[in-house]
Amino acid sequence: MRAVTVNPGVTDSLRLTEDHPEPASEEGAILVESLAIGICGTDHEIIAGHYGDAPPGTDRLVLGHESLGRVLEDPTGTLQPGDLVAGIVRHPDPVPCPNCAVGEWDMCRNGLYTEHGIKALPGFARDRWRVQPRFAVGLDPALAEVGVLLEPTSVVAKAWDHIERIGHRAEWQPRTVLVTGAGPIGLLAALLATQRGLAVHVLDLASTGPKPELVAALGATYHCVPVNDLDFEPDVVVECTGAPVVVLDVMCKAAPTGIVCLAGVSSGGRTIDFDAGALNRALVLENNVVFGSVNANRRHWDLAAEALARADRSWLSSLISRRVPVAEYTAAYTPQPDDIKVVLDFAA
Ligand SMILES: [Zn+2]
Repeated sequence: MRAVTVNPGVTDSLRLTEDHPEPASEEGAILVESLAIGICGTDHEIIAGHYGDAPPGTDRLVLGHESLGRVLEDPTGTLQPGDLVAGIVRHPDPVPCPNCAVGEWDMCRNGLYTEHGIKALPGFARDRWRVQPRFAVGLDPALAEVGVLLEPTSVVAKAWDHIERIGHRAEWQPRTVLVTGAGPIGLLAALLATQRGLAVHVLDLASTGPKPELVAALGATYHCVPVNDLDFEPDVVVECTGAPVVVLDVMCKAAPTGIVCLAGVSSGGRTIDFDAGALNRALVLENNVVFGSVNANRRHWDLAAEALARADRSWLSSLISRRVPVAEYTAAYTPQPDDIKVVLDFAA
């Protein structure tokens, strides 16, 4: 069968293999036929050789951690043949740490977790894959075109879950949300904010292309200005750019008792001048919280599946800029200027 693989740590090692072995039965009882694989920045980092680990004893890693497939067989009866399914990316560490021990592998303490298509587990960019029932998330049959967005949605479902847990440390009535960065994660974070009935603002550098319209279609307000030029103080910020200046500006911009969720990863190595004392003063005197958020556990995947089922499907569909047949995989992994989400189409 076909599989898209890389040799982690080696640049230009991306290949489409035609004779990849069928998934081993140890991978799980549920056999799945691939429909689509979403591509994100992590894939580009792995392809560039900056990131990723092959499974032990091999030198090639099957790519793909954003999955959508159709169940071929499930002898456990958890899902039925024909059901739409996505595979949870991260598996708990084998020690396990206290968090992995209770299913909160998104909060792993020792870093020994594994991840499909990223860290020591084969990815989903192959014709067929297997999954254990506890890592298989069933999707509404109506989500066949857009269910591949489940993984990035799980990431923002976790972010919102933690924002709400932090918010409820005291009386909490948030009204205004600022999302910085209108990529797939930012747009999906904005979607989940609108589902909560909040006034949503999205800030991005792009003044043209599809982003302003996608934000407007959510009923949210689009801003193409520096954070400091905004004329409101957000109760919640979901920071998705990882750009150091934006990160610092939103921490200072949040309203009193504001919550700033950092969901973007900075590349590091860039130094900027800033007044740490002033930031400390603002955080302490206004009871503000700044926290980081990554990955998702089973509960978040289930919340994400509900959020997608409730969303406008034509809006979700418009997040997918390009659907590229597997045979043209190099085009899928080559970014284009107006890309939001690019999908590798296994069904084509
Ligand atoms: Zn752990």
